[in-house]
Amino acid sequence: MNLHEYQSKQIFAEYGVPVPQGEVATTPAQARQIAEKLGGKVVIKAQVLTGGRGKAGGVKVANNPAEAEALAGQILGLDIKGHLVKKVLVDPAADIATEIYVSFTNDRGARKPLMMASAAGGMDIEEVARTDPEKIIKIYVDPHLGLHDYQAREMAAAIELPQELWPAFNQIAQGLWHAYWDKDATLAEINPLIITGDGRLVGLDGKMSIDDNAMYRHPELEALRDKDEEVAEENEARKFGLSYIKLDGNIGCMVNGAGLAMTTMDIIKLFGGEPANFLDIGGGAGADKVAAAFRIILSDPNVEAILINIFGGITRCDEVARGILDAMEQVKVTIPLVVRFGGTNADEGRALLEGTKLITAQTLSDAAQKAIQAAKDAKQP
Ligand code: GDP
Ligand code: MN
Repeated sequence: MNLHEYQSKQIFAEYGVPVPQGEVATTPAQARQIAEKLGGKVVIKAQVLTGGRGKAGGVKVANNPAEAEALAGQILGLDIKGHLVKKVLVDPAADIATEIYVSFTNDRGARKPLMMASAAGGMDIEEVARTDPEKIIKIYVDPHLGLHDYQAREMAAAIELPQELWPAFNQIAQGLWHAYWDKDATLAEINPLIITGDGRLVGLDGKMSIDDNAMYRHPELEALRDKDEEVAEENEARKFGLSYIKLDGNIGCMVNGAGLAMTTMDIIKLFGGEPANFLDIGGGAGADKVAAAFRIILSDPNVEAILINIFGGITRCDEVARGILDAMEQVKVTIPLVVRFGGTNADEGRALLEGTKLITAQTLSDAAQKAIQAAKDAKQP
């Protein structure tokens, strides 16, 4: 789950990171009131769960409350990379001398948290990563020991931070580290962390991603979930105990087990197709669950054929076959459906599907090729 800038900065502040004390507005009039309260220049910032807001016109400085209202009016309702702006953060404007990048993230390859920082922070950090990767300094953190002060100092030196700012940088790095660690984040990022004209460090932009698998440990974060920003189908899937991730291909997948679902996607690609989604229906496959899965897969207009791949263990393939047939009474499936059963009662399952318009397959390779072909045939007039 991704958190908005204002939510991330609020958490960072609780961990001692200095951030601007702004407020969120949902209307231009509210933005004006906040600007009046703050006094002086303010910055109006689109709160959407995507980066690059600055370049998309989603971050603007207002000189007075009237301007704040006008700019909020421009930014609210903007479409930034497919995200509709419904909220803006009104922060006191900062006097920026230098923009620094700092973050903690999971390095899965190293199986460790990774601290990254760069003197070349700001809006073009992705570009820096591409063109001058040596300008991004990396320091691994031992998960058992946490971030040591000497590591924060080493980082401050490496990004050539003026020495008088090292203690402040250490405090911010420790705060960010503890926020990342305590909240089970996969990312805690400040970009830019600025040096102000009068020589203070301030976290101007914040971003946090929380590991979904750890959300049960953080009921306090569940309230921060922005339903508007989540893929509706992914929410629907969660209700039925399905794991669904939308992708860009045309072959819908319904599989029991995450590993098998990934294998299925690989095999589809191996035969030149593109999966439309990842979908793990989990254990058991009653009609209601399968029907929900059909509805979710079919809500994607790119899907031209569906591949159902079931390996029967405790869940028996004949049970699943009945679930599929019952679900097809509930949901009208007009595109080709290819079913591959393996494991417990695979033959019985296939027998139940005989005489229906469902296409059955013995092996996964066979099934993938049939699904790709069926999608092609369905496109022919
Ligand atoms: P992002 O583009 O989505 O990462 O949004 P940021 O919050 O990082 O803002 C983008 C850029 O806007 C920053 O790198 C700054 O250069 C600029 N910016 C943000 N807040 C202020 C501010 O208070 N004053 C000034 N002068 N510039 C700001
Ligand atoms: Mn930023």
